[in-house]
Amino acid sequence: MTEQTEDGCAYISGAYLPLREAAIPMLDWGFLRGDCVYDAIPFAQGLLFRLQDHLERFWQSMAKWRLRCPQDREQVRRICHLVVARSGLRDGLLIVILTRGQPPSLKVRNPALFENRFYAFAQVLPPIADQERLRTGLEIIIAKTPRIPERSVDSTAKNFQWGDFTQARLEAHDLGADNALLLDQDGNLAEGPGFNVFLCKGRRLSTPARNCLKGITRATVLEMAAGQGLGTEERDIPAADLFAADEAFFSSSAGGIFPVVRVNGQPIGSGGTGTITQALLKEYWRRRTDSAWCEAVDYGE
Ligand code: PLP
Repeated sequence: MTEQTEDGCAYISGAYLPLREAAIPMLDWGFLRGDCVYDAIPFAQGLLFRLQDHLERFWQSMAKWRLRCPQDREQVRRICHLVVARSGLRDGLLIVILTRGQPPSLKVRNPALFENRFYAFAQVLPPIADQERLRTGLEIIIAKTPRIPERSVDSTAKNFQWGDFTQARLEAHDLGADNALLLDQDGNLAEGPGFNVFLCKGRRLSTPARNCLKGITRATVLEMAAGQGLGTEERDIPAADLFAADEAFFSSSAGGIFPVVRVNGQPIGSGGTGTITQALLKEYWRRRTDSAWCEAVDYGE
């Protein structure tokens, strides 16, 4: 049976239901405190990309947040396949979430005693920008809002504490930009709402080493770059290096690789999508349907 709506399918407490009908308990701290970790796995043509790598990071995120999944990893893997199959979607994004849950009674204050809850849903990929902009490249700003320091909220655990990102997005929209990049407390590039950042100078790619999620797309880019004979480094990147770059792009499971052509109104490099970004984009989309990197969803047809 397919629980597909135009939006997708959700898994909650053993049941599969249309995404628009899915709801979580109001007292779940995932809602009340943003106290949860999650992961986002893209699928294209019915193929889930790097599912095991995403689940590995999901389990690491849980450990960092002192959360425990009621299901084991194999059960979660099966739910992942089923929720995509039941959505009927061939292309989209699968989200897995582990929340703190609700206190077993009003007297219990220790979050370690809450019953953690697992949720999942598959949906049509929400676009990071409109189609035309994705083709021609993003025009972004550097946000005035700094990234939450990783010493306060560990950015390597994929989490929903998005207060800084949301303020940065509001800044971007106020200025008519497509999106925003956040700096860390020392003025180095960090990341943006749902993506990592890369810049390219000569045949060398750089990406921030700190105050960012270690994206799976970021890892894919670093691996592809090595395969294409490019140098790579993870380092502290002052904002000035971005303006002096030949090329820049974002990386995210929610859509792959996005060329960045203008920052604060200033063109980066030629002001168009660079040749290195184009080569990485091509190889990325080849991998997205390569069986070496993907698991086929069984739609039972
Ligand atoms: N940084 C943040 C804050 C994110 O939320 C995401 C993805 O949602 C990324 C980076 C990119 O990570 P990935 O390539 O694993 O999607």
